[in-house]
Amino acid sequence: MGTVETVQGPVDVRELGLTLVHEHVRFRDESVAAQWPGRYDEQAELDAALEAVGAAKTHGVRTIIDPTAMFGGRDVRFMKRVAEETGVRLVACTGIYSYDYLPHYFANRDVDAMAEHFIADIEGGIQGTDIKAAFLKCAADAAGVTENVEKIHRAVARASVTTGAPIMAHSMPAVATGPRQVEIFKEEGVNMSRVQIAHCGDSDDLDYIEGLIDSGVYVGLDRYGLEMFLAIDKRNATAAELLRRGHAQRLMISQDFCASIDWFPPEATPVFEANGAIRNWSMTLVFEEVVPALRELGVIDDESFNTIFVENPRRWLTA
Ligand SMILES: [Zn+2]
Repeated sequence: MGTVETVQGPVDVRELGLTLVHEHVRFRDESVAAQWPGRYDEQAELDAALEAVGAAKTHGVRTIIDPTAMFGGRDVRFMKRVAEETGVRLVACTGIYSYDYLPHYFANRDVDAMAEHFIADIEGGIQGTDIKAAFLKCAADAAGVTENVEKIHRAVARASVTTGAPIMAHSMPAVATGPRQVEIFKEEGVNMSRVQIAHCGDSDDLDYIEGLIDSGVYVGLDRYGLEMFLAIDKRNATAAELLRRGHAQRLMISQDFCASIDWFPPEATPVFEANGAIRNWSMTLVFEEVVPALRELGVIDDESFNTIFVENPRRWLTA
């Protein structure tokens, strides 16, 4: 069945075990962090990552797929420290997390040149290490699939076709980016069974989600705890209906938790908790609240739990 690249090196796919498919051990803007390093507390970030990953481990999690790409502060040395200190495997990606902006560097180079950078991360290693990317990441958000976003999607697609690496695409159901993202991947000849459209669970529009599933991709119900996009009970109702309709093999359940994130000043988090924008957002919410609720509804059992949290990530990662 082959191996999967992790920050600790290649691992037999059968060893991946219980997997969280979308979590971030740290999320920050690498240019701000490079220019004003004193504004960041590296030790506090490490402590937060160790705490979050350690908590997931107590629920049996053995592997975490971390889709932190360019502009999310991807740092495979930091990831390796977290993996080594917790004993939980981390899987790294390559790609660009942009809703539109591209640096001049990539604006003035073509799609194939961009793809070549991604391929080098997959085949050679990331940031001067021998840690290889196991998958590709791109994003479309409120601005939709802009020209720059399309360029990144095509580069990601070509790198996938060249290397066989799977793709995870951040999407925004509120502006229905998913179908266009899928269309681009199809035009580029990507194997759709290796594509994951993230954040579909921000919507409870079953027709929209099933339309994506029908195109052969995995869909992410992967932002549990981010109530500002959709509340947990609505996310669960959607998940339950998708499971009743027999889609267990296409669902990815996760939290998109960021052990630390620099998007807001530190005092914002308690406000988000108080006003209900986030609720119990963590790397353990799905095990503590979501799976028990889905079991209660009778839509998930040990077998489908294994399908979602073990087999689906493994199948997506390996051809
Ligand atoms: Zn994410």
